Amino acid sequence: MLALRPVMTKPWLDGLLQRLYPPTCVLCGAPGHAGLDLCQGCRADLPHNRHACPRCAIPLPEDQSIGTLCGTCQRHPPPFAASHAAFRYEDPVPTLVAGVKFRARFNLARLLGQCLALALVEQGSERPGLIIPVPLHRRRLRERGYNQALEVARAVATALAIPIDTASCIRALQTNAQVGLDDRERRRNVRGAFAVLRPPAAPHVAILDDVVTTGSTVTELSRVLRQAGVKRVDVWAVARTP
Ligand SMILES: [Zn+2]
Ligand SMILES: [Zn+2]
Repeated sequence: MLALRPVMTKPWLDGLLQRLYPPTCVLCGAPGHAGLDLCQGCRADLPHNRHACPRCAIPLPEDQSIGTLCGTCQRHPPPFAASHAAFRYEDPVPTLVAGVKFRARFNLARLLGQCLALALVEQGSERPGLIIPVPLHRRRLRERGYNQALEVARAVATALAIPIDTASCIRALQTNAQVGLDDRERRRNVRGAFAVLRPPAAPHVAILDDVVTTGSTVTELSRVLRQAGVKRVDVWAVARTP
C-alpha cells in the first residue's frame, strides 16, 4: 500500500519559506491549503476521478458499481494491470496541464504531481518499484526543453519515495500528433514507438503520463515493457479523458 512520505525539512526553514513563498491557490489566488498551491474550495471543486474503471481509469457512469471493469477492458484486457488518474480531463484541468506542457509552468507540474500522489494513496494504489515517465522523442525533448511527464513524476516520486527510471526506455520514433485520429489509427500511430534499452530493475513499475486519452500510448509502452520481462505495469496519469 502507498503512503505519503513525512516531509523532512527543518521547521525554521519551513517557517521562513512559508513566509517568503506562502502556498497560494493557482486558480483563485487565495491562501493555499495543506501546503498545496490550491485553496480548500478550489480543490474540492476539481473533477476528481473517483468513480472509474480500475483497469484503465476511464470515468464510469454513476450507476455502475465501483470496482467493475468497463466494457472495453472486459472485451480486450490491456497489458497493464491497473490505472489511476487524479482527475477527469474537464475544466480547469486542461488549462493546468497545458501550462505544464506548453508554458513550462513547473509550479503546476509540482502541484499536479502532488495531487496525483494524494489520489494514488486515496485510491489504494499498489506500490511499484519504479516510476517510468512516458519518454519523449529526443527531437521533441530538444524543442520543448523538458519532458512534462518527468516534471510531474518528480513530485510524485518525492511524495511517495519511489525512484524514477528514465534510462530503461526511449521513444525511438517521433509519432505524429494523436489529435484527430480514431482509436485504431492511434494504435497504429504508436506501434513501435518505444524501445527498451535494458529491462527496468523492478518486477512492478508504474508508467506516468500527463493525460491518458484512448490509452494507445500507455498500452504500447506497457506492451514493450512486459515483453522485456516486467511482470506488472500500472498506469498513473494526472487526467483521463472520458
Ligand atoms: Zn482557490
Ligand atoms: Zn477499463
